[in-house]
Amino acid sequence: MLREFKADLHIHTCLSPCAELEMSPRAIVKTAIKKEIDIIAITDHNSAENVIAARKAAKNTGLTVLAGMEITTSEEAHILALFDDLESISKLQDIVYSNLMPGVNDEKRFGEQIVVNEKDEVLDFNKRLLIAATDLSVYSAVNTIHSLSGLAIASHVDKDVFSIISQLGFIPDNLKFNALEMSVHIDRKQADALFALYNSYPWISSSDAHYLADIGKRTTTFIMNEPTTADMASALNNIEGRRVEWG
Ligand SMILES: [Zn+2]
Ligand SMILES: [Zn+2]
Repeated sequence: MLREFKADLHIHTCLSPCAELEMSPRAIVKTAIKKEIDIIAITDHNSAENVIAARKAAKNTGLTVLAGMEITTSEEAHILALFDDLESISKLQDIVYSNLMPGVNDEKRFGEQIVVNEKDEVLDFNKRLLIAATDLSVYSAVNTIHSLSGLAIASHVDKDVFSIISQLGFIPDNLKFNALEMSVHIDRKQADALFALYNSYPWISSSDAHYLADIGKRTTTFIMNEPTTADMASALNNIEGRRVEWG
């Protein structure tokens, strides 16, 4: 039976150098539940090392945690990758790590990159340059995500930095994004006016939370059967009564 699932599909943890230390997987899960969100995605920059902790923290709760990542392409465009299973995200992580700029994170300049467990215990400090661009072009990023059966969503297309439109000037027809994401900085009416050119793509909106208070500031409602990426893909394409709503 179809029902509504409230989703915030773009959340950074303390593994992202730019996110606050309070963004532990455990605290994120707690906050999402408090805000009556049904589905979240953990989407750190170029890494997924805190996904397992978030899933463990959400075990036996009603919250679904998708395994995600926000890839920085060689053009410096951000692309969200969303998966149901840990196996796919770990394959993606291997590919992204082997395409990451070599070098060590400057913690003082960019921030710490903390890997934790579901109890908020620190397991490791990731030393990779997660903030940097990868060698993956937007085409190879989207193709790689799709080859692993994930959803590829163009992040915050309305932003004038790090979005596909800010970096390429437009969205090439042959880039098969599952959806475009609008940020909290734009409402539905503004999006309709500014991005009519791209209304053949499904649109979603999410918080891109870097602080606990940001979680759920913007959500997308998926009307569908079950909280899986396959059903989300059907909702994005209006298949058999499934659909998405935001704003
Ligand atoms: Zn981004
Ligand atoms: Zn982000």
